[in-house]
Order: sequence, then structure tokens, then C-alpha cells
Amino acid sequence: MLNIVIFGAPGSGKGTQSDRLIAERGLFHISTGDVLRDHMRRGTDLGNTARQFIDQGQLIPDQLMTDILANVLDDNRDAAARGVIFDGFPRTIAQAEALERMLAERGTAVTMVIGLEVDEKELIERILNRGRLTGRSDDTLETARKRLDVYHRQTSPLRDYYRERGLYRPVEGTGGIDAVARRIAALLDE
Ligand code: AMP
Repeated sequence: MLNIVIFGAPGSGKGTQSDRLIAERGLFHISTGDVLRDHMRRGTDLGNTARQFIDQGQLIPDQLMTDILANVLDDNRDAAARGVIFDGFPRTIAQAEALERMLAERGTAVTMVIGLEVDEKELIERILNRGRLTGRSDDTLETARKRLDVYHRQTSPLRDYYRERGLYRPVEGTGGIDAVARRIAALLDE
């Protein structure tokens, strides 16, 4: 069973590459950003709480986020048993520790962390482009800068966390969707 964390800064291509992996490997996709945006669209209490953080470029508090993830795993027990792509989670060390516990309780573990590495200038360009195409409320220049700052402070320490556990695999995230997908496929086929 393959549990893959797809890791990287905002705009690094996590969602795009996850879509490829679902199509090619039949893994179950959990994007915590998609889960939150769905709640925002439906106007649930959780969606209204999440919006206050998302539109400020801040992270949703760890305990809330971890509870949401546990619910998604429980609601999709059968689909998740085939293996999961975690996209956008974990984003903090506390979340990584919680994920380790949650998976251990379910008799499984993280197989590999694929780190999409893209330089900052290209990240900003991609985020602004996505904002133009989709109207995502947090894909503005001001919020993108805040999200990158949050990424550097709170999320990038996870690279060392997973390196120490022998799970981190960096992937050059530039050069076209197909080229990146081929690099990831090569890692998974190892
Ligand atoms: P994403 O679609 O993964 O870029 O997530 C969009 C926004 O949702 C982030 O900027 C955060 O505000 C929030 N979010 C998504 N996943 C998490 C997470 N694991 N922890 C905290 N906040 C999250």
C-alpha cells in the first residue's frame, strides 16, 4: 500500500501532479485545500472559519486540521485502504506527527514524501496565473507572498523532518507537467 505525501510550496504543482497520480495509479486523493474550499462554497460553519485563515494566507490551526483529516480518512475507509496521496497535509511538524499516529492506528505509514522544488519567482507567477484562471480568493499577489512566508517558516522544516526519516525525495518541479510527472513516476517505480 502506497501512501504518498506530495509536498511543496504553494504553486509548486501539488494538485496538478496529484491528478496525474490518481489517473495513473488509482490512489485516493486527499487535498486538504480542496476539502476546505468545498466547505467554503457550501457555507458551512467550518467553511466560514476556514475562510478567515485562508484569505489571510494563514494556516488553519493544527488540531482542527487534524480532526478534518481523520474524518476524511474514516469516511473513505475502503477507498483509502488502496493508498492515499496526501496533498497539502502535513504543513507543520505537529501535523506530520499526527499523520504518523493516524496512519499507525490504521496499520499503515507514509511510504514516501515527494518534494516538488520550484524557485520563488516561478511560484509567484504560477499562483497569479491560477488566480486569473480560477478566481481563487487567496491567489492574489499580497496573499501569495504571505503564503510563501508561512511556507518558509512553518512548512519547509518538514523537509528535514522527513529527510531524517529517509522518506524525502526531492523532484525538480519545473519544465512542464509531463516532464515532472515522468520524474515522479521514475521515483515510484524504483
Ligand atoms: P492549498 O489548496 O493546499 O494551497 O491550501 C489553501 C489554504 O488552505 C492554505 O493556504 C491554508 O490556509 C489552508 N490549508 C490547506 N491545507 C492545510 C493544512 N494542512 N494545514 C493548515 N491549513 C491548510
